[in-house]
Amino acid sequence: MSDPVTPAAPANRFRDSLSNGEFVLLVESSSPSLSNDPIAAGERLAAFEEAVLSVSNVNTALAVTDRYLSLDAWRAVEYANALREENRDRHVIYLSGRNTTGEELRQLSDAAAKSRLFNVVPVSGNCVPGDTLRECRKRVFSESVGVIRNLAERKEPFFLGGTTNPYAYTPFTMMGQYFKLVKKLNAGASFVVAQAGWDMLKLQSLRWYFSGRSLFYPMIARLVLLTPNLVEKILAGEYPGINISPDFQKILEKELRYSLNQFEAAQYRRLELQAAGCRLLGFSGIQLAGAETPGRAKIAAERIGNALREFNSFDSWLEEYNSYLARAEMSPFTGSFYLYDHTLRRAYPDEEIPVARDFGEPEITPGEKFRFKLRRFLFPHADRQRAESRRLLKKLFASCRGCSSCRLPKTEFICTEGCPKRLPNGPCGGVKPHGNCEIAPGECVHSRIVRLAHWNGTLPALEDEILDSGRDD
Ligand code: SF4
Repeated sequence: MSDPVTPAAPANRFRDSLSNGEFVLLVESSSPSLSNDPIAAGERLAAFEEAVLSVSNVNTALAVTDRYLSLDAWRAVEYANALREENRDRHVIYLSGRNTTGEELRQLSDAAAKSRLFNVVPVSGNCVPGDTLRECRKRVFSESVGVIRNLAERKEPFFLGGTTNPYAYTPFTMMGQYFKLVKKLNAGASFVVAQAGWDMLKLQSLRWYFSGRSLFYPMIARLVLLTPNLVEKILAGEYPGINISPDFQKILEKELRYSLNQFEAAQYRRLELQAAGCRLLGFSGIQLAGAETPGRAKIAAERIGNALREFNSFDSWLEEYNSYLARAEMSPFTGSFYLYDHTLRRAYPDEEIPVARDFGEPEITPGEKFRFKLRRFLFPHADRQRAESRRLLKKLFASCRGCSSCRLPKTEFICTEGCPKRLPNGPCGGVKPHGNCEIAPGECVHSRIVRLAHWNGTLPALEDEILDSGRDD
């Protein structure tokens, strides 16, 4: 009797490039507004694809983002249908959970599978710029961890990415991001995309932390080609999770003082240096934002390709990087937390694994301690009981909002429904560098959970279990 024939997995050049150690440059294209004529928008995407793929000195592909800053936009899955069929295994598409129910995500996943768009990065999504807290709370945010798990369980060969924001500057905000990323990897993500930023020390910390834990997943750093308009919008907070430090802002203002051409030349050089640095720090690729016309995308990609050749030793890169940035401080405030000493003095820990810095004593107020102890006393097994059980008490003492799945004992007895996006598994990428919420006043619910867990000695347990959403859909 002959063996049953297993159908061969479809080709996936993006996945193969990452596993073969071939540096990848993904150039971002955002899905356009719904008011665009779909045929014309499709033709523009095809022209963009052609320009990016025509670059020969680096391995290029596209990353199609999904309703990144607006709701009035095509879904990336639909828009990416304009990409040439034979190239789709090179590209990556994003799948945003904002304003998207579980059922809609299933339909979008079906559509992605049908179009053979298998390289997918699910994200929970940002608040819509201009949204009030109330409006944001009313939106559905399907959390990326659950979406990754669902896609990984499907029969189609999805190759999934998990995003993280490494630019977090308190120990608890940073660990919240790292723990959530571990959950994404455990849920089925096979590669990582880091949020955009300019602090190379933070990118290196991310690499060191995950390598130190033997989590050798390919990582892609998102970099931005800045324009004056983009700088203004970032400074105005229109790009949640992306921050320009005061020092860096001064440099940008100086670059803008002379001419637009000079500003542009400075941005290209910065991009080249960052891209080359990322490769030397062990990143598997970069994802370039801000180059959304075929001409700019092509120039930026070619220049990045040249820079990858220009710098082939960490020391020569570091010398140029330091002289170019004049050692500008890229952290947003003084006293920022960095996990390791000696970052950017060497690319990799050569002899010994670097020792992480101590987090210090977390500041826990007497009120927080009291509330924690009271909730633990009242609801020790709430996660094993029906969600409605003791609802009134939970409402009084744990700000219960009446969701369908109680997770209190797993989240230091802080209800994650207090997060405006109702994310159960960890902070979103929009969390502010000092740990405040993207949209609500005060500390991010998940930074608070990490802080309490550190005080309580239960930090490692935070990444153990993927928690279900408390939403019914
Ligand atoms: S509480 Fe944290 S995870 Fe929730 S929206 Fe605010 S910053 Fe994001």
